[in-house]
Amino acid sequence: ASSEDKNYTYIPKGYKIPTDADYFHITTNNTIYGTEIHEDIDSPITLVADMSSDIMSRPVDVKKYGMIYGGAQKNVGPAGVTFVIIRKDLIGSSERPLQTMVNYATHYPEEARNHSMFNTPPVLPIFVMHETLKWVKAQGGVEAMYKINKKKAETLYNEIDRNSMFVGTAVKEDRSIMNVCFVMAPGHEDLEAEFMAFAKEKGMVGIKGHRSVGGFRASIYNACPQESVDALVACMQEFEKNHKK
Ligand SMILES: *Cc1c(COP(=O)(O)O)cnc(C)c1O
Repeated sequence: ASSEDKNYTYIPKGYKIPTDADYFHITTNNTIYGTEIHEDIDSPITLVADMSSDIMSRPVDVKKYGMIYGGAQKNVGPAGVTFVIIRKDLIGSSERPLQTMVNYATHYPEEARNHSMFNTPPVLPIFVMHETLKWVKAQGGVEAMYKINKKKAETLYNEIDRNSMFVGTAVKEDRSIMNVCFVMAPGHEDLEAEFMAFAKEKGMVGIKGHRSVGGFRASIYNACPQESVDALVACMQEFEKNHKK
């Protein structure tokens, strides 16, 4: 399934999952184009999901997945550690010869020889991940994070839709609550660099879109508070005011 025909601005729908495949792989959130699969889909075969950029942003029905994996560096910790949630029967089930290091059976405690570790894990990123998980729990868990994240995304998308200077790129129903992508509205394209400089002056960091798409991207991961979103909205409103004839 692909949405290449419209520059990846929507999540493909109506596709058929072949039942003779070993597994069906999805990436739940597209950080570059700002689209997201908002629901746990039903798959007739083992479902494998890369949730690098939206894990812990909403409650997930893990039972629907054979495996969920990702890099920790967006919502759960610093770079240097990854996470895997895998159904037990899938561990060591590959018929392909695997290098010891990339075989999950090597790292699964019950299977690992002498209950010892195969390699020295990066304890600092793992410790920080633990602290982050405790922080998420203290916020009220993923249910609470979801509420906070939806509010942040709604605040920003409402402003994008209201503000005459900007326009969102992803179709509304598939808009990501993690990465909010937008561009200058038609007729205002020449103001892109000016808004970037204006926002920078106001203390906004990292709102430049991915190098492959341009425009703007506000990454509002779990660690980003509502106040930061409010500040960006205020900045967009002031920019509009300054340019209204
Ligand atoms: C963020 C992300 C990447 C990029 O990883 P970095 O190491 O953070 O550059 C790749 N794939 C997915 C699905 C991601 O969310």
